[in-house]
Amino acid sequence: MSCINDSVCKLCRRENAKLFLKGDRCYTDKCSFERRPYPPGQHGQQRIKFSDFALQLREKQKTKRWYGLSEKQFSRYFDNASKSKDLTGLALLKSLEMRLDNVLYTLGYANSRREARQLVKHNHVLLNGKRANIPSLLVEKGDAIQLTGQAMGHTRVLAAIQAVSRRTIPSWLEANHGQFSGLVKDVPTRDEVTAPVEENMVVEYYSR
Ligand code: SF4
Repeated sequence: MSCINDSVCKLCRRENAKLFLKGDRCYTDKCSFERRPYPPGQHGQQRIKFSDFALQLREKQKTKRWYGLSEKQFSRYFDNASKSKDLTGLALLKSLEMRLDNVLYTLGYANSRREARQLVKHNHVLLNGKRANIPSLLVEKGDAIQLTGQAMGHTRVLAAIQAVSRRTIPSWLEANHGQFSGLVKDVPTRDEVTAPVEENMVVEYYSR
């Protein structure tokens, strides 16, 4: 998220996908991608034939932007995934999904990954009873997440919980919105990852 500035809607238009970077606005007719579903810029509406490389690059950029990571952070995730016993693409997605900020967002306690990251950085999250303020921390099966008392009264958190019906909480996570808590029941399977990405193309991009 460090790399995202105010014109985040341009990122969705560039990647030709809704990346849900602006919370509430993404679900309204104010969504820029809904209104202008073509790349930004003077030549945005021109038909362009993409090379294989360009398609792989776009897929990598889309994945990186969906999770709100910088280039350096993302390539580090890829390096680690390539050493995994799992298929590299799947290992990459699993580790991105299991970041603490992503889990918090997926559980419905934030309207965007950026908001979730802020909650973590501001010390509003307990992981297994201990304060956790590192958004990139990877959760594990069985981990319990709890918001602090201060976060429970936070208007943004309450608004996110109210709005959560617009999203599906995957079965690898369990949310208890009454208690402002959540549980990591399992490691996500590929089907449970909602990111609109083709991870094989990301692997191909890095295997050039
Ligand atoms: Fe993307 Fe639309 Fe949300 Fe803007 S409002 S970040 S274009 S999904």
